[in-house]
Amino acid sequence: MRKEQYDFPLGDFISEDNFDKIKEFSEGKETPFLVVNLAKVERMYDELVKNMPFVKIYYAMKANPLDEVITALKNKGSNFDAATIYEIDQLIRLGVQPEKISYGNTIKKEKDIAYAYEKGVRLFVTDSESDLHKIARNAPGSRVFFRLLTESDGADWPLSRKFGSHPDIIYELIIQAHDLGLEPYGLSFHVGSQQRDIGQWDNAISKCKYLFEAVALQGIKLKMINLGGGFPAKYQSPANELETYAHEILRFIQEDFGEDHPEIIIEPGRSLVADAGIIVTEIIMISRKARLNQYKWVYLDIGKFGGLIETLDECIKYPIYSERKGYEEEAILAGPTCDSMDILYEHHKYFFPETLEEGDKLYIFTTGAYTQSYSSVAFNGFPPLKAYVIKDFGQEME
Ligand SMILES: *Cc1c(COP(=O)(O)O)cnc(C)c1O
Repeated sequence: MRKEQYDFPLGDFISEDNFDKIKEFSEGKETPFLVVNLAKVERMYDELVKNMPFVKIYYAMKANPLDEVITALKNKGSNFDAATIYEIDQLIRLGVQPEKISYGNTIKKEKDIAYAYEKGVRLFVTDSESDLHKIARNAPGSRVFFRLLTESDGADWPLSRKFGSHPDIIYELIIQAHDLGLEPYGLSFHVGSQQRDIGQWDNAISKCKYLFEAVALQGIKLKMINLGGGFPAKYQSPANELETYAHEILRFIQEDFGEDHPEIIIEPGRSLVADAGIIVTEIIMISRKARLNQYKWVYLDIGKFGGLIETLDECIKYPIYSERKGYEEEAILAGPTCDSMDILYEHHKYFFPETLEEGDKLYIFTTGAYTQSYSSVAFNGFPPLKAYVIKDFGQEME
């Protein structure tokens, strides 16, 4: 039977053919699980390179640390932003050269810095005097970049306050780093994840400009700006296209630094992998809590502890799809565990056809980032989220 184009509402997330393949792939498999389409990750990387040819990419591997994802990006020539010695070990095990690794966490144990240095890592971030001294003692002569505090206004998943310091502190750290025999290499910031206000990069780049000039007066020439992550994935709330981000950000850089700008690094996580993931879940139960309630409660076999932690405060609103047709009703979505915080969406209502039934599968799109590695080990006995990596739709990797 020929289906009409307008019958297929998922065009933004997946083609109709590929959706059919996902359904076929799901047959007989115990839910919940994540499917990661590696070909899509590769396409996202290529698109980033095409749109931002002026940057060096350090994949923020915490977004999706599956070996297959790391290897695919390694083969594309990516560099990597690691947060721990465990991530560094994984990268080295997968054959990533230490020159391609940045130790991008401002919070590090002294012995972990020594370990990274011993493995050949020579690029470290810092935002405090304490950490700077640890780096100087354990990673002599290394390149150091300094993380600036930014506001995360406009970001769906803010990262403010915990990381970065005020430019006055950073200025002092740069001077000290030089005196301690390290190479003050550049500045970094992160404007907040899923940042939908591109102007936030403008503010941060202006702070960089100020610091580049201030330390130049002391004879220190910084060489690099790390623009962090924050680039968008396709969720329910609309964001600009990557092309627009790229264009605007280059304009901000050129306004402050001219054509001959410093080396530019980015650390994309979400934007490289989110769109490549689909979670397949099953409805365990549908109930109404009072006879006249307008809303029904729909309990899924995945929740906050199964990998959807970014629904905290309903920050990230995943596109969720049922194949049923019919009049649409509001629903509260909740997870399967015995913790009362395990509700996915209560204030932001999702609409589903009234024909929805227990046992139905739901498809949660844009779930390739910050899901599987976030899932709990065994809360209530639930196993961590299973992930299948496919080369492209329909083809599972050995
Ligand atoms: C998490 C993180 C990133 C990735 O951010 P996204 O918004 O997912 O792209 C980049 N850099 C650092 C230092 C991070 O902690």
